[in-house]
Amino acid sequence: MTEIKINKSAIAERFMRYVKIDTQSDPQSNTHPSTEKQKNLSLLLAQELKLLGIKDAEMDEFGYVYATIPSNSEKKDIPVICFCSHVDTAPDCSGYNVKPILHKNYDEEDIILPDDHSQVLSAVAQPYLREHLGEDIITASGHTLLGADDKSGLAVIMQAAEFIMNNPSVTHGVIKILFTPDEEIGKGTSKLDMKKLGADFGYTLDGGEAGSLEDETFNADGATVVVNGVIAHPGYAKNKLVNALKVAAEILHALPGSEWAPEVTEEKEGFVHPVRLDGIAERATIEFIIRDFDLDNLKEHGERLHGIAENVVNHYRGASMEFTITEQYRNMKGILDEHPQVAAYAAEAITRAGIDVKTESIRGGTDGSKLSYMGLPCPNIFTGMQGIHSKLEWIGVKDMAKAAETIIHLCMIWEEETT
Ligand SMILES: [Zn+2]
Repeated sequence: MTEIKINKSAIAERFMRYVKIDTQSDPQSNTHPSTEKQKNLSLLLAQELKLLGIKDAEMDEFGYVYATIPSNSEKKDIPVICFCSHVDTAPDCSGYNVKPILHKNYDEEDIILPDDHSQVLSAVAQPYLREHLGEDIITASGHTLLGADDKSGLAVIMQAAEFIMNNPSVTHGVIKILFTPDEEIGKGTSKLDMKKLGADFGYTLDGGEAGSLEDETFNADGATVVVNGVIAHPGYAKNKLVNALKVAAEILHALPGSEWAPEVTEEKEGFVHPVRLDGIAERATIEFIIRDFDLDNLKEHGERLHGIAENVVNHYRGASMEFTITEQYRNMKGILDEHPQVAAYAAEAITRAGIDVKTESIRGGTDGSKLSYMGLPCPNIFTGMQGIHSKLEWIGVKDMAKAAETIIHLCMIWEEETT
């Protein structure tokens, strides 16, 4: 029987190649993908998949990569499983000219990043570094993010695909590979062709510490408050003018400071968070995101926000308000509970890779939240990424290798469990 072992220097080299390609997405763009440059990486991935012998690998016009590894099992009814990660990096931090650095044999000394000496990676701030003593880690150089979110997922899936293609003794059903653009701006699935994908169950490779398996995400809504003021010539405005900008500021001021905000909540607590404010004296708009694990609580947060805003606006004669809630994504747990084998097999695969399973909830969403509701139940598996969306982002090479081994085991488990 083939030993499932991923070559660490190969996966490190692959990962460092991918992070050098700038794929930052843009929340202000209305195109698909939001930035054309994401296709540079998508195209490379499609070509590399073809070189591995995966014949149907292709990038579509929207920058999605689809590929199929055919079954090599005699069993006919093995569910089709899909592995997914995203090519884009977050708009929060520059992704231009990323210079990955491989630090061999980590020894717990502080790592000062060469392009900005104020960026210091220390085990005091990031205790998970201690799990990598004597191992290799990868950082950026100080002026950009690293892009482990989610180029580690790409490297993990690509390395596993190479292993599967080169080791026919690994028995598996049909495996689908999906790489998406624009996950970081919440549009990772907007142009996804589920029929073309043709998978029954999926796994995103977009998680943190080794062993983590996430089957629960926030429920997420967006809320928009539009304040209509009353406009008048400012020289003759006495007792007439209501300045929408000031009303908007008052609404923000009326939000609680010690609860209900991301800066003061953790674990299972939800929040309301203003993310954008713009306008003129006549009309101002505030955009919020609303998050909670529980759907009823999510609805209550929206109603409470509505009440706070209305209460402020009602103090101003002639002013009015428009309030809208838009659904963003839903907690995947509701769907995954209907298919318990999906997460259970992942847990078994992590164990076979020699790691302890940590089942966790994500205080955010992944493409998996949306995919689960689009008919593809899809928990999230670790890749090892740490300090994401920041200049201090880093990843341990052994974690990526373990993630790749996990998904190879996972393919085999789906085959074994099918009669
Ligand atoms: Zn991600």
